[in-house]
Amino acid sequence: VTKQTPMFNRLALIGVGLIGGSIARAARALSLVETIVATSRSEPTRQRIAELGLADEVADSAADAVADADLVIVSVPIGACGPVAREIGPHLKLGAIVSDVGSVKGDVIAAMGPHIPPGVHFIPGHPVAGTEHSGPDAGFAELFVNRWCILTPPPNVDRRAIERLSHFWEAFGANVEIMSAEHHDLVLAVTSHVPHLIAYTIVGTAFDLRLVTESEILKYSASGFRDFTRIAASDPTMWRDIFLHNKDAVLEVLGRFNEDLATLTRAVRRGDGETLFNLFAERRAIRRGMVQLDSGKPAPDFQSAESKPPHDPIPRPYAAFDDD
Ligand code: NAP
Repeated sequence: VTKQTPMFNRLALIGVGLIGGSIARAARALSLVETIVATSRSEPTRQRIAELGLADEVADSAADAVADADLVIVSVPIGACGPVAREIGPHLKLGAIVSDVGSVKGDVIAAMGPHIPPGVHFIPGHPVAGTEHSGPDAGFAELFVNRWCILTPPPNVDRRAIERLSHFWEAFGANVEIMSAEHHDLVLAVTSHVPHLIAYTIVGTAFDLRLVTESEILKYSASGFRDFTRIAASDPTMWRDIFLHNKDAVLEVLGRFNEDLATLTRAVRRGDGETLFNLFAERRAIRRGMVQLDSGKPAPDFQSAESKPPHDPIPRPYAAFDDD
């Protein structure tokens, strides 16, 4: 993908952290929009957006930012999506597309949907890409390359609007998939939400165990603990909201997980080597298959972007855990 004629005239970004900041950088680098107007809840972040040059205009409020925008992307914690939609609803332009990036879809649709007026296309989305860093400085243009962006449009949304938004994400190098919000929430509970919960748990377990010292954990963590628990460094606000808003799917997956863990616990207690070996062999085959599924496609032309990742790129084998 190379630079192209703008897909939208005016892009309004409500919330500019890791995700909003990455959208701003990618849209700018690829000239996907004519004008970017951005806003954030706090004055320091609005100042930082201006300092980093992430937008053409920095608005003081979400209501001001969306005026005349033909694409609005809300990138705030899930629990804040409803209040933001209430604020922007009356100011949205007829024919505009409104989307979000929340890691849970059912509750976000329930919270935002009622505030989106008729004649505005509401197409919720979730770029399955991220890092454990937050804030406008953490964003980078390449974040979405070769990652999935899941759109969960409610029934009856205009097909051309869905296509326009799909093309926008594809231009970032993302692969777009469309599914129901309910299915999205179950898939993400398995692939992301429960793994994060387990990582948060094991960090606590390790540090609560008085038998092992903190310095021993740090010293020997390369043996699995460090990689496995990297995602426990993720933002607590975001993850609190995910578990508050994807309760049913997470409880369903956790129920199954607990059963599987009980099977393994029993095998360990009984010294049942055959069960352990067979299970590990089967799971290794599944895990290896997952890594092979990771396709690689050329990245868009971000050359002119002043947007090198501020952190080390994510090691591929753990990429599956980065998506929330
Ligand atoms: P972030 O870096 O922490 O940025 C959050 C943004 O939301 C900031 O602009 C912040 O404004 C604003 N904000 C925070 N609380 C708010 C509130 N109560 N009301 C209004 N605005 C508020 O977050 P992020 O990682 O970009 O995540 C944003 C969304 O993307 C979340 O819904 C998350 O589920 C989703 N997501 C995250 C990832 C990931 O890995 N991080 C991946 C995919 C999707 P101030 O700085 O001005 O306070």
